[in-house]
Amino acid sequence: MPYKNLSKILQSLKTVYSNDNTDYSKKYSGEIGYKTDGLSPDEAELLRQHNLQPNNFQTYSHGDLVSAFLKLRDTTSLTWMSCSRFFIKGLSGELPRYRQTLMSFHFMSGLENHAFMPSKRHANCDICSLPLKSVFDRTHALYTYYLGHSWNETPAHFLAELEEASTFEAPEVTREQVEKLSSLLQAISDASQDETPGQLEKRIASLKLLPKTDKYKRYGILQTLAVTGVMPGDLDSGNQPARSDIVHPLAGWRGSMGVDYDVASTIFPDFAH
Ligand SMILES: [Zn+2]
Repeated sequence: MPYKNLSKILQSLKTVYSNDNTDYSKKYSGEIGYKTDGLSPDEAELLRQHNLQPNNFQTYSHGDLVSAFLKLRDTTSLTWMSCSRFFIKGLSGELPRYRQTLMSFHFMSGLENHAFMPSKRHANCDICSLPLKSVFDRTHALYTYYLGHSWNETPAHFLAELEEASTFEAPEVTREQVEKLSSLLQAISDASQDETPGQLEKRIASLKLLPKTDKYKRYGILQTLAVTGVMPGDLDSGNQPARSDIVHPLAGWRGSMGVDYDVASTIFPDFAH
């Protein structure tokens, strides 16, 4: 467990970050926050103890984030092995918070020191996709991960994610949990030739393979497999379909591409055995 009182923490975060709890009376670094008066003093203290106090807005430049990622990479206790186990545990539904770490770690591993490179296609850096400036509530970013989401679109949030995951104990995985991954990969390779990622998500939902997921959480799990190359895809994000729920690289996957089992056994050493 990341924290022994995880369910209480999640409940307290839900109290603050529900949709109708926005607080328009105050701004934090120019951003609108959330009301905290629904928290009991004990709940507020519990969140503070875990560095999860609400409305914890932080401002970073692109350079700040790159430096902080590179520094964390040198000091973190996270490894490919521990992150792959985080993912397997997240996938199994035991700890949904753990689903994001593998994708964040993949991002950090590939990062090199560089200056912001303007892009012709979007507002973010063409090299690493980080924005020139980021302002966000660290706790709200972490809250989405506590709910079991994983995203590749906002790498600025990966820093807080990895900092927090660095404080978690490296998990052990059970045979049943590894089999869960195995069943998911089997389902993906069973796809018909022209199956789309959206059709794949529906099929996985009907197979009931992934506990504690909804459509978007399943996209997150599949996106992690795509980002790490376990699900091969078309890496050209220039072909992004407009107004799609599914972004690249997962958007570029089709059934005929199946699963790259060589990559899978590299990313998930437990799976290879
Ligand atoms: Zn960059």
